[in-house]
Formats: sequence, C-alpha cells, structure tokens
Amino acid sequence: MTAIEAALEAAAEAVRATGGELRAGGTDVMTRPARPLVDLPAGADLHGITWRPDGSVRVGALTTITDLLADARLTASYPALAATAAAIATPQIRNVATVGGNLLQRNRCWYLRTPGFACHQNGGDTCPARDGAHLYSAVVDQGPCVAPHPSTLALALLAYAATADVHGRAPLEIADLYGDDPTRDHVLDSAEILRAVHLPPPVSGERTAYRRATARERAEWPLVEATVRLTLDGDTITTAAVAAGGIARTPLLLPEVAEALHGGPATPDAFAAAADRATARCTPLPRTAYKVPLLHATLVDALTAACTP
Ligand SMILES: Cc1cc2nc3c(=O)[nH]c(=O)nc-3n(C[C@H](O)[C@H](O)[C@H](O)COP(=O)(O)OP(=O)(O)OC[C@H]3O[C@@H](n4cnc5c(N)ncnc54)[C@H](O)[C@@H]3O)c2cc1C
Ligand code: SF4
Repeated sequence: MTAIEAALEAAAEAVRATGGELRAGGTDVMTRPARPLVDLPAGADLHGITWRPDGSVRVGALTTITDLLADARLTASYPALAATAAAIATPQIRNVATVGGNLLQRNRCWYLRTPGFACHQNGGDTCPARDGAHLYSAVVDQGPCVAPHPSTLALALLAYAATADVHGRAPLEIADLYGDDPTRDHVLDSAEILRAVHLPPPVSGERTAYRRATARERAEWPLVEATVRLTLDGDTITTAAVAAGGIARTPLLLPEVAEALHGGPATPDAFAAAADRATARCTPLPRTAYKVPLLHATLVDALTAACTP
C-alpha cells in the first residue's frame, strides 16, 4: 500500500470507527447537527491542478474554489467552469470551500438541518417538506425527497462531461455521483473519499455562460441556476451542453434542451423553444410552481449571454 492509500484508508477507518463524517473546508459539515469530524488527509494527492499530456486536467478534491479560479490556464480552458465557480457563495466561503465539499455538500432542507425531524434523508420514512415548508424545493419531483441539490459546481462538471475519482471505485460520471436513489444526496458512503475530478481536453472557441435566479443578491444559494456550453458555426449551433440546478434532487444535465438547440439557429425563438423542453419535465409542488417560468427565463438568459459577443 502506498503512503497515499494508507492516509486515505486511515481517514476512512476513523470515520467508520467513530460514526463520523469527513471534513474538507468544513463550511457545510460544521453547520449541521454534529457528528465526530475526521479531517481529510492533507498531502494525500487531494490538492492541486495537474495537466495531462493529452490536454485533460485533474483537479484534486481539496482544491479550494479560490485556487481553482486563480489558475489562469484552467479558467481560460474551461470558461463555463470559471463562470460557474465564480458565482458560488462569497469570497470568504470560496477561500475555504473545496471542490469535493461543494460536490458532496448536503442539501439545504430546513427539516434535514433541524434536529428532531426524521425524514428519508436521515433514516426516517417520510418527507415533512412535501406537506410543509417547501418554497425552495424541487420543481422536477424525483420523489420521495424533494430537496434540490445545492452544488453549483456540479453543473459545470456535468456540462464538461467530467468524471469523479473516488478511492476504491472505478471512475464515475458526475451524474452517477448523484445516482438514482431518491433518498440520498449522493451515492458515496460516509467513509468513501473523492480524490479528484477529471475534465476532458478543452474545446477551443466554445461559447459559455452561467446564470442564476436568487431571492437575495449575495451570499445565497440560487432558486434556479443554469450553465451552458455552445459551439457555433456562424449563427448555427453545432454543439450544446446545458445543465440546471435548484430544480431537482440532483444537478441535472438537460439533453432535451441540447438536442433542441443542436443544428439550429442561435436566435431568441430557438432559445425559448429549447427552454420549453426543460419546463416540460417540471412537476411542481404546490409552492414551487414559480420555478417553472424562472427556469425558462434563466435558460433563455444563459443561452442569450453565451451567444452575445
Ligand atoms: C452564504 C453561503 C452561500 C452559498 N452559496 C452557494 C452556492 O451558490 N452554490 C454552491 O454550490 N454552494 C454554496 N454554498 C455552499 C458552499 O459552497 C459549500 O458549503 C462548500 O462548497 C462545501 O465545501 P467544504 O470544503 O467546506 O465542504 P465540507 O463542509 O468540509 O464537506 C461537505 C460534505 O462533503 C463531504 N466531503 C467533502 N470533501 C470530501 C471528499 N473529498 N470525499 C468525500 N467526502 C467529502 C463531507 O463529508 C461533507 O459531508 C454557500 C454557502 C454559504 C455559507
Ligand atoms: S425534502 Fe428531503 S431532506 Fe427535506 S424533509 Fe423531505 S426527505 Fe428530508
């Protein structure tokens, strides 16, 4: 066993022995009902940005959002990642929040974060949010949990078809990191460690944008958010990748929107028709119907911004 593997195994064993939880930057885990915390091992190849000969890149899970944004080659090569990361939280949070922690942060549901409520996400068999306070909940109901996934960074990684390197597992597509168990925020067990994410070689000349709709201008998770990547040949869209957050239990790639855009003109009508495809999958709760037009407007806004020189 290498020194790195030994360090990862020791951290995992400490989690198992204490019933605890891994801590990276701590900005999420320290704001929830307390469990013993186990710091991720510094130096166990979890930090930093490494370029590969084929032009792809590995970003260590303990890389902070600030360090990610400070890497000029990375932000120039993956502009949708840069725009998306720059919108997260506040400078102070970005200084300590890590890539891994952002992807694996728990959802913001009040019931989950308030001691005394049992629900599907903490061992119970009910969802008090469905009939209770769910103003900020999902508009694409994947049931039974209706808490939208809070990771903004995941949108860019979905749009770039990135993969996750989890210790002891084969590489995971980002969508598979979130899986299809409707009672969990992600598929990792508490002792499993995300080591890095890998992005494929960049595409030159792509047009990108990130947009969010918020209830408060700063220091807030978005109600709805969207990341888009396009390539154009003149006014014709030749490739598209679109991801949206704040709307479902998982961050969502929207292939139906990309399909509607592909091969068509970069015009307001085309953007609106493509956004219609996304709203067609909405199944709002009683108090989340407002997110349907918000999703539409956010997508159109992001597509327009991406195509505006
Ligand atoms: C005011 C405010 C506004 C915010 N706005 C946004 C926003 O707009 N978008 C957004 O995405 N986030 C937002 N956040 C959340 C913030 O981005 C997250 O709290 C942060 O990214 C978590 O990273 P961390 O390193 O501190 O994670 P931690 O709190 O250390 O960990 C979070 C979770 O991930 C697990 N974990 C962390 N790293 C690993 C790993 N390598 N392997 C396995 N498990 C791991 C931990 O066990 C824990 O369960 C906001 C936060 C605040 C306070
Ligand atoms: S929305 Fe999810 S986290 Fe919130 S109470 Fe329901 S099951 Fe629990």
